[in-house]
Amino acid sequence: MDQRYCDVAIIGAGPSGAIAASRLTALGWNVEVFESQHFPRFSIGESLLPICVEFLRETDMLADVEAQNFQFKDGAVFWMDGETETIDFHEKSAPGPATVWQVRRDKFDDTLIKCAMRQGAHVHFGHKVTGFTQNTGGVTLEIENEAGESQVVNTSFVLDASGFGRVLPRLMDLDVPSDQSLRRSCFKHVHDFADHPDFDRNKILITVHPDDPQVWLWLIPLADGMSSIGVVGADDVIQSRGSTPEEMLAAWCETSGFMSDILSKATEARAASQIIGFSRNVKNLYGDNYALLGNAAEFLDPVFSSGVTIAMKSAMLATDLVDRQLKGLPADWEKDFSAELKVGVNAFRACVNAWYTGLLQRLIFMDSRNEDISRHFTSILAGYAWDRKNPIVQDPKRFFSLMDRMTSD
Ligand code: FAD
Repeated sequence: MDQRYCDVAIIGAGPSGAIAASRLTALGWNVEVFESQHFPRFSIGESLLPICVEFLRETDMLADVEAQNFQFKDGAVFWMDGETETIDFHEKSAPGPATVWQVRRDKFDDTLIKCAMRQGAHVHFGHKVTGFTQNTGGVTLEIENEAGESQVVNTSFVLDASGFGRVLPRLMDLDVPSDQSLRRSCFKHVHDFADHPDFDRNKILITVHPDDPQVWLWLIPLADGMSSIGVVGADDVIQSRGSTPEEMLAAWCETSGFMSDILSKATEARAASQIIGFSRNVKNLYGDNYALLGNAAEFLDPVFSSGVTIAMKSAMLATDLVDRQLKGLPADWEKDFSAELKVGVNAFRACVNAWYTGLLQRLIFMDSRNEDISRHFTSILAGYAWDRKNPIVQDPKRFFSLMDRMTSD
C-alpha cells in the first residue's frame, strides 16, 4: 500500500478546501487536497455575499474569479403578497465591498481550486477519504482511488472541507441534531428569457409563497441568460404538491406570483434535483490535529445565502491556527476558531429563525423602517456578520426580541 507524508491534508476541494489550500500553501506548508469527484462538478449555493470578495482578495484569487464574467450582484429583492422590497448592499453599515456575483458553482469552484493548484497545492481528484486515525503528533488518512486502490497518508493536521460528505462527523460520530426543522429544497437551472420590466438581474429574488409564508423560493440570475430557481419549505409541505422534484418545484413556482410572471418564457437547462434535511450541526468544530470547515461542520438554511461565506470564513480562521500550531506556537482553537466562527453563524442563525417565525418578513416589509436598523440588517445580508459594531452581531437574540416588541405594538 502506497504511504506518504504531507504537512496538512484537506478533504474536499469546494470553496472552504480551496481557500484553506491556498492560504496554507502561501504560508509555506506542504498541502495535499483529496477530492472524491472530478471538477468541474455541479454544486448548489450560487448566490455569493460581498464579504467573499475580501476572502478572494486575501488569497490572490480575485483576478481569476473576475475574469470568469459571472453575473454581477449588488443586493436582494424580497417579494411578498404583491409587494417588493429592495435591499441595496451599498446601504450597509459595515465597511468593505458591496458587490459580488451569482455564480455557476461548477465554474466557480473549478476556478478557485485551479488557483490553489497554481499556488502550489497538490490536488488529487477522484480520491475519496475513507478512514481517519489519530496517532501521536498527527493523523493517518485512508484514501481510495477510482480503481479501488487504497493508500495511506500521514499528516500533521487534517482540515475536513468535505461539505455534505461530512467525512469526520461520520467517522468520529460528531453529529448532533440541528435546531432547524426538517426542510426540503428542490431546484434546477433554466434559460430564463426574462424580459419583465421589473426584473433586476443584479439581485437575488426571494419570494414568500402566497399560499404559505413558511415556503420561499429563490430566483438567482446567472450569466448567459440562465437562472437558478428553487423552493424551500417544511418537508411534508413541499411534498404535498408533487411526487418528483420536478413536479414539486413546478407546482410551487407556478403559483408564486411575480417570480412565475418573470419565468413565463423559461425553458429547462438542468433537470430538477432535491436535498432533504440539509441543516446539520456537530459536537465540536475541532479536536486533536483536525478541524471542520464549511458545511462539514454546520449548515443552517439557504435563505440568506450564507453557506459559501461561512465556508470561506472558517477556512480563513482555521488556517491561521494551523500555521501557529505547526510552528509550535500557542493556538487557541476554542477562542480564535470555534467561538469566533460562531459570532457570525449566530447572527445568521438569528436571522434564519426570525425569517421562519415571520418576524423578519414583517421587518422587511414594514412601512417605515428605521434607517439604522436597515443598514445593520443590510450588512448581515452582505455577509458582514463578524462586524462587532453591528447590534445584530453583538447580541442577536436581544436585537430580535426588541424588534419583535417593536413590530407587535
Ligand atoms: P462543498 O462545496 O460541498 O465541497 C465539498 C467537497 O468535498 C465536494 O467537492 C465533495 O465532492 C468533496 N467530498 C465529499 N466527501 C468526500 C470524501 N469522502 N473524500 C474526498 N472528498 C469528498 N450557499 C451560498 O453561499 N449561497 C447560496 O445561494 C446557497 N444556496 C443553497 C441552497 C441549498 C438548497 C443548499 C442546501 C445550500 C445552499 N448554500 C448556499 C450552501 C452551500 O451550498 C454550501 O454552504 C457550500 O457549498 C459549502 O462549501 P464547502 O466548501 O463547505 O463544501
